[in-house]
Amino acid sequence: RVLDEVFAEADRIDRLMSTYKDESEISKINRDAASAPVAAGAELFSLVQRALDVSVLTRGAFDITFDSVGQHYDFRARQRPDAATVEAARPFINYELVELDDSSSTIRFAEDGVRINLGGIAKGYVVERGVEVLRQNGIRQGVVTAGGDSRLLGDRRGRPWLIAIRDPRGEGAAMHLPLIDEAISTSGDYERYFEEDGVRYHHIIEPGSGEPAGGVHSATVIGPDAVITDALSTSVFVMGVDAGLRLIGNLPDYESVVIDADGRIFYSDGLAPPAPEK
Ligand code: ADP
Ligand code: MG
Repeated sequence: RVLDEVFAEADRIDRLMSTYKDESEISKINRDAASAPVAAGAELFSLVQRALDVSVLTRGAFDITFDSVGQHYDFRARQRPDAATVEAARPFINYELVELDDSSSTIRFAEDGVRINLGGIAKGYVVERGVEVLRQNGIRQGVVTAGGDSRLLGDRRGRPWLIAIRDPRGEGAAMHLPLIDEAISTSGDYERYFEEDGVRYHHIIEPGSGEPAGGVHSATVIGPDAVITDALSTSVFVMGVDAGLRLIGNLPDYESVVIDADGRIFYSDGLAPPAPEK
């Protein structure tokens, strides 16, 4: 019964926030917010607000308006926009074009051509809501996973949960992390992509270029809140090893593991093994 409730909650959020559903709240915003402010429910409004906060924190590496270009991809159909389409849509990747009005709870786009998509943050929200459903039902130990985003509730019968980070180019795990009561998200270039002439086109867009972000193969973020680990794993993927780990170094509650294009593994300071004692 409790599991059904968790899945029903995930469906409910999907119906609000999926750009694949014409009747969703977010689809209505994408259709109308360039013409007039559109009233948003408290939940969607606050998740968009949090997404914009992460944009400020990451100086635009995380940007839900990526979809101004992103909408032109269809990974299943192996379709991607041509250079002219990317060039024309790229100026509309700019989170500052999304205007929130707290007093009326409305969202407005400053220009026609802007589109938002919560694909980089909404799964984390689903996971947090799922854990809340478990808690409300008196459950004290469990895992809620939505693809690359998980939240651990408590421990596993007195021991940590062991969570694998996938080897981005292999079959198995690159490592296992022992975790208790934390959220963990991984963004990679290996789940949703297609290849053309040896180039891998995947689903994480670098806002500056409008093209899939290059540089790393996966970025994992660990911390107390799955909404934030979800958004930050996408951000660190876009920012790359140096800038990404610098960002995480400034966030005391969050840690990160990044696997670069040569398969090398980098850790944020809080995870790195201590220097050998002299
Ligand atoms: P996954 O979906 O595999 O868990 P992510 O959490 O990294 O991986 O989310 C990737 C999704 O984030 C993309 O499918 C897209 O919807 C969205 N996205 C892509 N680029 C960006 C970006 N620069 N900023 C915010 N969201 C993005
Ligand atoms: Mg993410």
